[in-house]
Amino acid sequence: MKKDDCIFCKIANGEIPSSTVYEDDDFRVILDIAPAAKGHALILPKEHFANIFELDGVVAGKLFTLATKVAPAIKEEMGCSGLNVVQNNGASAGQTVDHFHLHLIPRNEGDDVSVKWVPKESDPEENAKLAEKIAGRM
Ligand code: AMP
Ligand code: ZN
Repeated sequence: MKKDDCIFCKIANGEIPSSTVYEDDDFRVILDIAPAAKGHALILPKEHFANIFELDGVVAGKLFTLATKVAPAIKEEMGCSGLNVVQNNGASAGQTVDHFHLHLIPRNEGDDVSVKWVPKESDPEENAKLAEKIAGRM
C-alpha cells in the first residue's frame, strides 16, 4: 500500500522524478539526492513500510537479493574499494524518511564517510542471558 504523504512512496512509484538506477514491480533504486559519497544509492520498496519493524519478510528477501546485484554494479562503476550497507530505523538511529530504504554507500580508504561506533566491553555471561531473552521474543 502507498502512503499519500510519503515522499519515498511518490518517488518509488514514479510520481516524483529521481535519478533511477533500476526499477521493477516491487522496487526502485535511486541515487541519493545528498549522497555521503558519489554513487550513494537507495533501494526503495514500492510498498510503504515505515521501517524494519513493519517490513514484510518476503519483500526483505527480494530486497536483499536485489542489493547483491546493485552493490557490484556500483562498485564497478565507481571503482570504490568497499561499500557500506546502511539501514536506519527510528529518529534515534538516524532515520529521516519514514519509508524503509537500504543505503548502498561506496567507500574508499581515507574518505570522509563515517558509520563508526565506540566498541564497549561485554560480559560473556550477561551476553548469553541476553541472547536467550532476545531469542525468546522471536
Ligand atoms: P535516512 O536518514 O536513513 O532516513 O535516509 C534518508 C536519505 O534520503 C538521506 O540520505 C537523504 O539524502 C535522502 N533523500 C531525501 N529526499 C530525497 C529525494 N527526494 N531524492 C533522493 N534522496 C533523498
Ligand atoms: Zn512510503
